[in-house]
Amino acid sequence: MNKQGHSALALLAGSAASVSMLSFSPMNISIGIAGAVLCVATSFLGGLAPDLDHKTSTASQKIQLSSGKRKLMRVSSGIFLFIGVTLILLGYSTQAGAILIGAGIMAGCLARLRMIILIASGTLMLTGYAVYDWHWIALFTGIALIIMPFVKHRWIIHTPEFAIVLSIGLFVFGDQYPGLVMASCLGFIVGWWSHLFGDIFGSEGIRSLFFPKLKIALKLFDNGGNAERMISNLCQLGGIMIWVFYLLVL
Ligand SMILES: [Zn+2]
Repeated sequence: MNKQGHSALALLAGSAASVSMLSFSPMNISIGIAGAVLCVATSFLGGLAPDLDHKTSTASQKIQLSSGKRKLMRVSSGIFLFIGVTLILLGYSTQAGAILIGAGIMAGCLARLRMIILIASGTLMLTGYAVYDWHWIALFTGIALIIMPFVKHRWIIHTPEFAIVLSIGLFVFGDQYPGLVMASCLGFIVGWWSHLFGDIFGSEGIRSLFFPKLKIALKLFDNGGNAERMISNLCQLGGIMIWVFYLLVL
């Protein structure tokens, strides 16, 4: 499934979760209208986040330069470094050489912005866990963010096992702060699961981490095809109907 399908599914899941909490407060979870809005918003994020493990997914494009600019940065980085080192080795000008090497490193970093942002955010989480005694979900997400640029698309990040630990962690964490934090955690959880659910329909499907042979792929439609478009339209309609039902009936 592509961005369109995933975001529509996530908005539907987030709306369903919001309305059920607003109306029935299951497990004594009650969220106000602000919580409901936050729940839908974080569900949207959760619905796109698993594809951060793909270099060119919508989620990844948000934290990196366009492919043309990345190429330009890679090439200029190589040129700057080469000229900088040559200037120093030939004894021409150490200062100019150092400046060019610095520019080369900067351009290299810009070319790998996604990797740097993921690793930096992961390190922040790990620091919070180690130094400030943050909840263990910080340790878990920290490790996930750091390995994200290096793991295969649709592998560990897309497994149900990962989703289960993530859900438990977020739920236990959110439980300490009922209200807006809990609403955001729940939104992210339902969004994440809606993503896995959406990927099940395609030909690649999702597979278990510990039993890789265990794979669910319904092969119902191709990524970005007409069927996906129809399903996203239906999901959008479903999301709107849930809110209309809430406002008029519940
Ligand atoms: Zn996916």
